[in-house]
Amino acid sequence: MQNFDFHRPQTLAEAVSILAEDEGAKLLAGGQTLLPTMKQGLATPSALVALRAIPGLTGIRACDDGSLEIGAMTCHADVAASPLVQRLLPGLAALANKIADRHVRNRGTLGGSIANCDPAADYPAALLALDATIVTDRREIPADEFFAGLFTTALEDREIVTTVRFAPATRVAYAKFSSPASRYAIVGVAVAASGSAVRVAVTGAGADGLFRWEEAEAALTRDFSPEALGKFEPDPDMLNGDMHASPAYRASLTRTMTIRAVRTLLSERILD
Ligand SMILES: Cc1cc2nc3c(=O)[nH]c(=O)nc-3n(C[C@H](O)[C@H](O)[C@H](O)COP(=O)(O)OP(=O)(O)OC[C@H]3O[C@@H](n4cnc5c(N)ncnc54)[C@H](O)[C@@H]3O)c2cc1C
Repeated sequence: MQNFDFHRPQTLAEAVSILAEDEGAKLLAGGQTLLPTMKQGLATPSALVALRAIPGLTGIRACDDGSLEIGAMTCHADVAASPLVQRLLPGLAALANKIADRHVRNRGTLGGSIANCDPAADYPAALLALDATIVTDRREIPADEFFAGLFTTALEDREIVTTVRFAPATRVAYAKFSSPASRYAIVGVAVAASGSAVRVAVTGAGADGLFRWEEAEAALTRDFSPEALGKFEPDPDMLNGDMHASPAYRASLTRTMTIRAVRTLLSERILD
């Protein structure tokens, strides 16, 4: 049994000041990763700073310029069910609907998922493919700079993710081959298209975590079709091998999931 203080700040400023006064304090979103980690004794925070009561951290907004903003404390179920997300970024709603199970989707949050940066998590692939902007209490961070490796992000100590912003006129589709137990991605691929630009982001497969598959991006930018991928596969030497799949199998799955995502984007039947 661990002892820790529990804070429920009502404003972002209050949360920032609690974190500044207690170096061992940790932010609590839905607790879907942090609480099991504490139960296992792998995290021993001196205090938990719950973000749930802070207004403005939850919710989904369309901005005047057509971009979409999702608050960090918005749970996966709300993203999946949002008519706004279904209209502006149906691929993101479909992705959220395939995270874990109903319980986790009702507690787990967008901010917690990306701050935790599990190498098999789903949202990071979509954010990287969509070139999203991560807004914190201090600055704005492009997704290319935010995701920095296994369980590693560009967040500084005590920095709080407040919102994620998605640019207008970009479409995304996500295909994953998931673990039947946790539903985490053994391989998940997000393909985003904005005008003629294509970005492909892969989760679950990389030995160093999330990565952009630039060879596929170049091929799909020339010709946005499943055939354009030819026999391309990422180099298995840069992929992860574990009890779920060998690096060679993950390389093959990466190609297959990319083709599925491309087909989904071409069919426009993203919410099926
Ligand atoms: C059984 C199970 C199955 C799962 N399956 C999947 C899956 O299929 N796909 C998938 O993508 N994920 C999966 N997850 C992960 C889940 O979806 C959550 O996104 C993840 O656990 C983070 O949970 P949380 O939002 O409750 O954050 P917490 O657990 O509360 O926090 C996680 C970490 O992020 C920090 N943090 C939280 N919010 C912020 C913030 N706003 N700013 C800065 N730091 C912050 C916390 O301090 C902590 O270090 C699964 C989880 C479980 C338990």
